Amino acid sequence: MEQSASTPVENPITAGNRLTIDLSALARNWQAMARIAAGAETAAAVKGNGYGIGLEPAVAALAATGCRTFFVALPAEGLRARAVATDATVYVLNGLARDQAPGLAAGNLRPVIGSTEELADWATYRAQGGTGRAALHVDTGMNRLGLTFAEARELAADPEAAERLGLSLVMSHLACADTPAHPLSARQLATMRDVKALFPGLAVSLANTAGIALDPAYHFDLVRPGIGLYGGPFIAGRPPLETVVTAEARIIQVRDVPAGETVGYGAAATTRRPSRIAILSTGYADGYHRAASSTDQRPGAEVVLHGRRAPLFGRVSMDLAAIDVTDLPQAARGDWVELFGPNMPVAEVAEAAGTISYEFLTSLGGRYHRRYVGGA
Ligand SMILES: *Cc1c(COP(=O)(O)O)cnc(C)c1O
Repeated sequence: MEQSASTPVENPITAGNRLTIDLSALARNWQAMARIAAGAETAAAVKGNGYGIGLEPAVAALAATGCRTFFVALPAEGLRARAVATDATVYVLNGLARDQAPGLAAGNLRPVIGSTEELADWATYRAQGGTGRAALHVDTGMNRLGLTFAEARELAADPEAAERLGLSLVMSHLACADTPAHPLSARQLATMRDVKALFPGLAVSLANTAGIALDPAYHFDLVRPGIGLYGGPFIAGRPPLETVVTAEARIIQVRDVPAGETVGYGAAATTRRPSRIAILSTGYADGYHRAASSTDQRPGAEVVLHGRRAPLFGRVSMDLAAIDVTDLPQAARGDWVELFGPNMPVAEVAEAAGTISYEFLTSLGGRYHRRYVGGA
């Protein structure tokens, strides 16, 4: 049988690590965002397999708490979301592939039109009687997807354009919202106001999670949070809303390593004292990134067990990672160790690995035993 990367490992005994995914916390995080963005509609980004937690459970829990609009990257993700939330509006952020307009519309998915080529395809489809709806993406400074402002102005010169194309939303995306003082955000906001003026009557959307936190001026008609819903950072530098994902690995064994020995691949970390090293059943094949390793040159990530922190020791390998438990004599074979969760923010682990929470969450591998708690 074909297995997707997110196929849950059903048996907690045969899995070496486990994920606990709190769908009630996800719903409460969405409600918190909706309160902060009161006056705007609060949608949800569920791309990347629901930021790693599972697209279907995420959509089901969010829809049950009142979310009516979802953003995915790909049509295939859109169909999965649609199957769970039959009445929701589902936007496909990566836009319109050639000849895909009828297929998207048949799946009741709305492409986010992001270039003049896509726009031309969509216009042809609509001119031939297609009734599907779409969003228009206008670039305001990220230079990734979206019509340029000049292209949008040209389109808007025809006052019937939005109607003719079946547009239900005009949106843009912030490049630097997680750096609150960054001047690009204010420039993007000013451009977005000009975009709004081009398309009177059309709903406007600009803010992702960090954009919601910036200022209500960024909220417009619809906000599109992702990472903050899943327990990643909400306000830069502050604790997350509620933790949604707890990732744990089991200690396979604890070994004594004399001073002056090295641990793991590359002999990258040297014991400075007689040490107790615990070997964890997790590795980069589980999405615990190798960049979280510690070496003699730089510290790595930390984990939590018995209410205390312990540092990684040496390189993370494919299926294993080592931690220094010399100062934690209770550590024993079979213990569960928190990789990230309520006691260890995913943002902190990601930072120790030189990356961001998004990458840690979306890389969560298929070997975890997944346990969903709460939810509808
Ligand atoms: C992923 C994404 C979002 C959600 O962003 P977060 O930073 O996770 O809140 C919103 N809009 C677009 C266009 C996106 O690609």
